[in-house]
Formats: sequence, structure tokens, C-alpha cells
Amino acid sequence: MTHSSIGFRLVVWYTSLLSGIFVLLAVLLYFGLQHFVLKDTAQIQMSRARQIADTLLAHVQNTGEPYVIEEIKSLYAPEINNRFIRVTRANGDVIYESGDPKDNSFKTTEVPSLDLDADAANGSWDKKMELSDGGTLVEGVVKVSTQGKDGYYIEVGALLDPAEAMLNHLFVRMALGLPLAVLIIGAGGWILVRRALKPVAEITQAAELITQHNTSDRMPVARTGDELEALSLALNRMIARLDDAFKNSTRFVADASHELRTPLTILHGELEMLAAETSLTAETRDRVYSMLEEVSRLGKIVEQLFALSRLDAGEAQTEWQTFDLAELARSTTEQMSLLAEDKGISIRSDASNPVTIQGDKARLKQVIVNLLDNAIKYTPSQGSVQLCVRESNGEVYLEVADNGMGIPVQALPHVFERFYRVDPARSGDSGGAGLGLSIVKSICTAHGATVEVQSNPRTGSCFSIKFSKAKT
Ligand code: ADP
Repeated sequence: MTHSSIGFRLVVWYTSLLSGIFVLLAVLLYFGLQHFVLKDTAQIQMSRARQIADTLLAHVQNTGEPYVIEEIKSLYAPEINNRFIRVTRANGDVIYESGDPKDNSFKTTEVPSLDLDADAANGSWDKKMELSDGGTLVEGVVKVSTQGKDGYYIEVGALLDPAEAMLNHLFVRMALGLPLAVLIIGAGGWILVRRALKPVAEITQAAELITQHNTSDRMPVARTGDELEALSLALNRMIARLDDAFKNSTRFVADASHELRTPLTILHGELEMLAAETSLTAETRDRVYSMLEEVSRLGKIVEQLFALSRLDAGEAQTEWQTFDLAELARSTTEQMSLLAEDKGISIRSDASNPVTIQGDKARLKQVIVNLLDNAIKYTPSQGSVQLCVRESNGEVYLEVADNGMGIPVQALPHVFERFYRVDPARSGDSGGAGLGLSIVKSICTAHGATVEVQSNPRTGSCFSIKFSKAKT
């Protein structure tokens, strides 16, 4: 998965979103609990203070202060319960203060005395105090008014530390658990996204393999019932329509060129018979010969179109055999040598070692003929043409080089296109229709081979075909 892939972006987006939600929930949970614990502790202290006020101090004028103190000690046992209790008269005299708790969690001397001016003078209230040893004491304070006296303040307190320790423990757990959760979410998301997008990778791979030679192949369809199934089905229908259109056009060219062959052959024969007529004037005979030449050219173009349409239909893949390419190159060069000699061009082949390949022998001979024919056509007299067949690193190379007029740089990318000619004037009467190299290319493609050209108007051209032995 690359950084720009849908899968990567999806995983990053959803992992960040979920992590954000988790962090938010954790923060809300932590502060919510903290608030709840504080309120709850304060409420418990407050209800105890109120209990002492209602059950003991409300009757102090009848029972007396010592009785109340004894009752607090025996009923509430603050030291044993790690609690702080203090009873203060309204004038500020402390009549009772519990001792240090049994667990020594705080010292009662650290608890500040009740500040009657600053604290509320009436009713009940709670307060939170930071003790000097670092603990937090939460107190509920209740004022009780008694007949004849100003009244008493009852303070009941407890440390918040156990609850805070629980909260800190929770915080540490969440801080450690969050990265782990993000990791699990990310990994899970990655697995899910990969599985969900697997058909996309398969469709992409299959689409890359579909060319004009296998338009009858189809994309894999994962029966998932989702958008990807719909996409592959739609793509397959599109390929089927393209396949139809492509086959129709190939069939049309094949039919048209096939239909043109017979009338052209008849026309050629008729013109030859006409040219043999003794009663013709010299001028008429010249015209008939010119017509004969044009009909021959036309016949050649029709033959080339027919050959191309059969190659497009994949015919070259059906007639394969194993043969020696070097031997084919030598014999073809031999056959073309007369043509070269006529133009005063030296031609030679460098293909002494046998090189066995598999392929359509007749069509590969056509490749050699087209390349040698071009080399002879576009090389002036005194020039030279060389054909070489060699094998290296499991690959077979067939090269046709000449020291002729070369091809301009801007024309090089187009020479294998159908009907492309660099400049019709360069070849004079011998020039073709610009189909020779497209036939070469189609035959090479059908053999899984690649064809390249290197050319320079000063030094000449070299056409190089590379066959992979594994494929041929
Ligand atoms: P044509 O049948 O017209 O020669 P091709 O398809 O064989 O058509 O070649 C396309 C063009 O490439 C030609 O018009 C020609 O100018 C150029 N070309 C092909 N082979 C050579 C070569 N060996 N040297 C120079 N130009 C070449």
C-alpha cells in the first residue's frame, strides 16, 4: 500500500478518528469520575456530621457535653475508621477532636482549625483541604443550634487519597491501553481494507493484461454483491462491446481486402494482355504499363492490409513450429542479395551459429524480408546492409543495420504506425504505403518479441528485434 492509496488513507483516517474518540471518552471518563468521587465523599461526610448533630448534639443541654463526646468515641470510633471528627463551640472552643487515624494516613494537627469568619456561619457546607503532607481531606461541616447556647459546629472528614489512587491507577491503565488499542484498530483496519480492496488489485492486474490480441478475456468477478462486483461486471460488458467493435472493424478490413484481391488480379491480367497487343501505339502502351504498375502497388497494399487484419485476429499464434532462425536469416539474405546487387549495395549475414526458436516461420520470414527490403530501399548505391542473429542471456536478437539515409529523430516514434511514411519523396517510385514496419511490429508482438530502431541520418539505421526464448 502506498501513501496515496485508498486503503492507506482509509486506515489512517479511521484509526485517527477512533483514537480521537477514545482519547475524548477517556478524558471525559477521568474528569467525570474525579468529580463524582469528590461529591460522593463530601456527601458521606456531610451525612455523618448531620447524624451526629441530630442524634447527639441536638440534646446536649440534657445530656451534657461529656456524654456526647463519649458517644462519638464509642459509636463512630474515628481513629479506627481513619476519619477525622471535631466538635467546636460557636465561640471557637474545641470540645472534641479525634486522634490520629490508626493507619497514620494523616496527622490531626495538620488539619486547620475552623475559621468561623471565613467559613459560612449557618447551615452546612463541605470543603476540601490540601494537607501539608500532600493528602487531600474532604470535610462535611454542620452547624447545630441549641437552646440557650450559640450552638456547635460538627466537622467530619476523610482523606480523598484512596479514591485518587484509584483514579491515578485508571489513568495509567488508559494511557498504556490507548496505544495498544490504536495498534489493534490500525492492524484490524489494515486487514479489513486489504481484504475489501483485493478485488481492485485483481481487476487492475487483469485490465493491464487485456490488449487488442485478447479482447475475449474478461476481468475476474468476485461475487461479493457489492460495488466492486458491479464495477467488474460493468467493465466486462464494456470490454465485450469493445471486443465486438474491434472484431467488426478487423473483419471489415479482412473482408474488404479479400474482396478486392480477385478484381485486382483480373485487372492485372487484363492489363498484361492489353500491353501485349501489337496494334497499340507506343504512347498507349506506356499508359498501360503505368496502369499496370499502379495496379501492382494497389495489389501489394491490399495484401498488406489483409496480412495485418489476419495478424490482428491472432492468426500468427496458431501456426507455430520450432526452427533455426539463423538458417532462415541466411537463406532470406541470399534471396534478397540480387535486389541489393542491382542497386550496387553489399549485403551480408552474420548468422553462422544455429539459433532455435518457436514461431510462425512464414511470418518471421516476412519480417526479415520487410526489414531487408527497407534497408536496401533507403540505402544509396555503394552502401552496405548487414543482418545479424545472435543469442545472449537466454534472449535471441535479430538485427538489420544499414549505412543509408537514416530516419530523422522526430519521425522515429512513428515509423511503426500504420500508413506512416517519413517522406514519400525519399523513396521515389519504390516507396510503399507505410505498412511494412507495422506488419513487422504486429508479427513481433504476436511472438512476444519487441522491436526497436536506432537511426541517425549520418550513419544509417539499425532495427533490432528481441525474442525471449522462454516465450517463443
Ligand atoms: P514503406 O513500406 O513505405 O517503406 P514502412 O512501414 O516499411 O513503409 O516504413 C515506414 C517509413 O520508415 C518509411 O517511409 C521510411 O521512410 C522509413 N524507413 C523504414 N526503414 C528505413 C531504413 N532502413 N532507413 C531509412 N528509413 C527507413
